[in-house]
Amino acid sequence: MNQARTYKTTGVVLRARNLGEADKILTIFTTERGKIDAVAKGVRRQKSALSGRLEFMSEATISLHRGRNLDVITSAEILHSHFDAIVRPNAFAAASMIAELIDAFCELDMPVPQIYELLSNVLVAFDGVDEQLLLLPRFQLQLLDALGLAPPCDECVRCGTVLDREAWLDLDSGGLAGHECRVAWMNVLELDADDVKNFRGLAAGRRSQTRAELYARANVARAIETIITYHLGRRPKAGAHAAEFVTPAS
Ligand SMILES: [Zn+2]
Repeated sequence: MNQARTYKTTGVVLRARNLGEADKILTIFTTERGKIDAVAKGVRRQKSALSGRLEFMSEATISLHRGRNLDVITSAEILHSHFDAIVRPNAFAAASMIAELIDAFCELDMPVPQIYELLSNVLVAFDGVDEQLLLLPRFQLQLLDALGLAPPCDECVRCGTVLDREAWLDLDSGGLAGHECRVAWMNVLELDADDVKNFRGLAAGRRSQTRAELYARANVARAIETIITYHLGRRPKAGAHAAEFVTPAS
């Protein structure tokens, strides 16, 4: 395939690693190519044209030059700097979790428009709320949905009966199971009828005409985190991604 040497895309900066004396390797989630790693040359020098433009969670239009291994960022224009919204500790922790999950779940060079939209929407929502950590469960559930990993929440995952009362989290079967299928000896996370309704509300939005709920009940937040941990194969390391941006440049 004949590819142009340079190209332009829009993306959100998810993480940064120092490279050599003055460079950084940035992981950016882009509209066109999904997750990419790219080199920002000289970005740690104060006089660099790129410095300050590729901060954590900034959305920017970037031009890149194709490299043999990694593409090189030649210029960047900020579209949205979310710095003011994420500078508070809880917001920073929430943004870090979002960055980590997208980074962990998305392969390089796999564009997923639904995830890009989810990411920009949650960052915009950050500006309008006081407690950004509360936005996480809904984001996590919708991310699972975009990845095709969200548990069905209308019918029992074991027998197909409509879920209209309490349910329990059956991770190995991949979803919520009804009371009729409750395995007595199993120690499971149980959701009451309002929890189930809330779970369904959080998952709604794009998929249905129902108005999506913004916040999760405590049990539901726990259930979603459990599902995330199950698919990730480990607990997310809260704060790891954001911390890379506050390390003083050497
Ligand atoms: Zn059942």
